Amino acid sequence: MTQRAFLDHLAAERRAIEADGLWKREREILSPQGARITVRDPDGRTRTVLNLCANNYLGLANHPGVVAAARAALESHGNGLASVRFICGTQDLHRALEARIAAYLGKDDAILFAACFDANGGVFEALLGSEDAVVSDSLNHASLIDGIRLCKARRYRYRNGDMDDLDARLAEARAGGARFVMVATDGVFSMDGIIADLAALTAVAARHGAVVLVDDCHATGLLGPGGRGTPALAGVEEGVHILTGTFGKALGGALGGYVAGPQAVVDILRQRARPYLFSNALPPAVAAGALAAIDLAEAGEDLRARLAANARHFRARLETTGFRLLPGHHPIIPVMVGEAAVAQALAAALHEEGVFVTGFFVPVVPRGAARIRTQMSAALSREDLDLAADAFARAGRALGLVGG
Ligand SMILES: *Cc1c(COP(=O)(O)O)cnc(C)c1O
Repeated sequence: MTQRAFLDHLAAERRAIEADGLWKREREILSPQGARITVRDPDGRTRTVLNLCANNYLGLANHPGVVAAARAALESHGNGLASVRFICGTQDLHRALEARIAAYLGKDDAILFAACFDANGGVFEALLGSEDAVVSDSLNHASLIDGIRLCKARRYRYRNGDMDDLDARLAEARAGGARFVMVATDGVFSMDGIIADLAALTAVAARHGAVVLVDDCHATGLLGPGGRGTPALAGVEEGVHILTGTFGKALGGALGGYVAGPQAVVDILRQRARPYLFSNALPPAVAAGALAAIDLAEAGEDLRARLAANARHFRARLETTGFRLLPGHHPIIPVMVGEAAVAQALAAALHEEGVFVTGFFVPVVPRGAARIRTQMSAALSREDLDLAADAFARAGRALGLVGG
């Protein structure tokens, strides 16, 4: 194929995506992340809008204590390591962060990755072989799906949250002669805000002698006692053997992922996980910011209480207006609209109203299940939420999504 034909092919793909109303556009933000952000519109206009779509659950992304810790580390430890961890890229800050996140989550140890995408990308291949099996939830995050694809273990999939199906798949894996079996699930399914039923899941897994891995990206810092996540929320911390997570959401919002678990697991990952062995160490400022964010999250009962109250309030306001929401208790509150074009139109109308939200549609959610995924933050005030709910009501009426 000539280069010309290749580029023509990509241009045709682009036109098809645009014709389907599925082209994603990025708006530029000129301010730090927060409840209010300054954005630049395509016409060059800048304005300040309310932000309802960040993973900034505790409002730590621009917290003065986190920023100060990052700045101090930039001064004391420099910009970066120019090395992977095992060659000459491990600073005291990296080990401090690994020890801190492990202690926070009640695990033996932890290992850092450039992102949770990489943690999930490396964990399965390093721990499991062709004699083993992985059983995974059908709604798992793309990074778990890709990580599982990269390992040689037999793969089984159960319907989202269906514990009978999980039980059957585990039995199938055992009947197939698997040496070790691992169950992998999101703690919170991020498109829907569904919290996994880990009490049931760990019981089923235990019956089959399976190891349990939970990706708790949308829970660590914000759910459960001390913000220790979905295992703590369900009271089954002992039954969840391996946790993966991110510093890019509630824990400061910068970057970085980790695997926390038994010492033997972390030790082998340090020797074998490819995204760890072949990718650069986290910048020291990022590690120091994450350390400060964990302290704030652990002590952040007030932040979690405000976050939960915000979620209850906003959910109630949207329901009263007549919007169709997915039920739940997580600060992810999806407003279901159906078609991608409607999601785009609602997001555009809200932007005009000064409310920043993003439409979600295929491929990130199923066709016909397009939505505006709103996310609550402790940084949002009650007044902010009322402003946003009023804007939703006006935009929803204008588009015929709600009555009145
Ligand atoms: C955000 C997210 C990730 C990716 O985390 P990064 O650190 O941004 O790579 C992985 N898994 C789940 C469930 C997530 O929500």
